[in-house]
Amino acid sequence: MNGKVLLVVIDAATPHVVCPAIQTGRLPVMQKLAEAGVMHQSSVSIFPSITPAATSTIITGAYPAEHGIAGASWYDTARDEIAYYGDDFWVIAREGFGRFVNDFLLRLNGDRLKAPTLFEMVERAGLRAAALNYLVFRGNVPHKVNIPGLIAALPGGPLTETVQGPSFLCLGDFVTPRTPEGKVDKASGVLHRFGMDDASTGRMLKDLANEEHLPDFAVAYFADNDYVSHKGGPVNALPVIEQVDRMLGEAFEAAGGMERFLANRAVIVTSDHGHCEVLHILRLDHLLSDFRQADLGKPWKKQDEIMICPNMRAAQIYVKSPTPEKIERLAVAMLRHPGVDQVLWLSSLTGGDRGYTVAGTRGRLRFSREASSSNCIDPFGGLWSWCGDPAVLGIGQAGRALEYSDYPNAFERIAGVLDLEKSGDIWVTARPGCEFQVPGGDAHEGGASHGALHALDSHSPVIVAGAGAPRALPRYMRLVDIGPLCMQILGIPMRYKVGDPRK
Ligand SMILES: [Zn+2]
Repeated sequence: MNGKVLLVVIDAATPHVVCPAIQTGRLPVMQKLAEAGVMHQSSVSIFPSITPAATSTIITGAYPAEHGIAGASWYDTARDEIAYYGDDFWVIAREGFGRFVNDFLLRLNGDRLKAPTLFEMVERAGLRAAALNYLVFRGNVPHKVNIPGLIAALPGGPLTETVQGPSFLCLGDFVTPRTPEGKVDKASGVLHRFGMDDASTGRMLKDLANEEHLPDFAVAYFADNDYVSHKGGPVNALPVIEQVDRMLGEAFEAAGGMERFLANRAVIVTSDHGHCEVLHILRLDHLLSDFRQADLGKPWKKQDEIMICPNMRAAQIYVKSPTPEKIERLAVAMLRHPGVDQVLWLSSLTGGDRGYTVAGTRGRLRFSREASSSNCIDPFGGLWSWCGDPAVLGIGQAGRALEYSDYPNAFERIAGVLDLEKSGDIWVTARPGCEFQVPGGDAHEGGASHGALHALDSHSPVIVAGAGAPRALPRYMRLVDIGPLCMQILGIPMRYKVGDPRK
């Protein structure tokens, strides 16, 4: 039987702040949801733990190696162009609307996204889907983009475009669908980031919460927490999540109460990544001053040796003519700084035949996928071999069982981006408390950030309740399991099941 799902994604909701707030009643609606269903406090994001890549993972169930969105900034070799989604997901004000419409609405959901979305799969199975301000929305139905007058007047603002979305697509003032009673209710204009802020998502959700209007599968995205937490840290951003909690309560009330809502539909609440407090900013361009660097966001010039694509608490570095010697020199140069945590690359770049190399101040570790001659098994049944210093990734082993602590599910997540053709040759992560910066980019000193492998960046809460929801969640959960969980409840077969090891 086909169930129904409302998936609520609260950007950067961080379990070490949000879960205690739920348990102590500061988020009463989520508390009731958790009591009616189950809550997991440490679902593991992907690497890099960055919004464009992680929200693509939620909606495809895939790692970046498969869905193709390599963080917030990467270099596309084949096209010789930089994909740059800014330090925040929203680049509207700084980058201009032409770029917003082109990069987010068209490119991210067009040729850059390589894996099928849940919206496509759900509607192909004959059910209906809705995206409420969720930025990775690709579906099978064309929608005309409305460019608000204020934006159309700006230079570079395109006049008309069409995007492919689920049959019910709400993208702020850009795409507004109609219900039988008229246009869906939302907040509009500059003050509400052109209908893309939490207040707008909340009003749309409330308007649609009546069962007749909410499609079988609906995704509602609340972005504001990420901004506020970047500036002041996750504790200071809690009022933003309290507001989301209230808006969820209003949506349930509009549908006749939470109990009635949950009798017909499962609700999943989660986030794309966590947030880690930032005290120190590291200038990567200074650490790598011995190498000729491409300008931020610009293609290669003839004399450039490396290109740094910043991803907040991580960065990927493209090396123009990589040699083992150059990779080693880059790793050594970065690890000289105590704020650098790990440097990662494909072992083949330094003479190995396969697998991945992780270098840190605590030593060096190599690992690879091994189907037959593995020496360990990860919590999801993935088979690996590793050798070197376990302290680099904080791993332990009991018999054949691989155990993670500070860097959860590190092997699968590292492989999940380094296997992507467009990945940088080298990835570097910052230690907790630190963030990378390059000229022209933002930093969040005194606030919080994310992007690295560390548990603080990587953990999300997951609450699941309502009709068709599982009675218990697996002991270990990952961001890549959210898609399969939705499909399981919807009763639609998918190529991945919850908890499957990923290759
Ligand atoms: Zn995010």
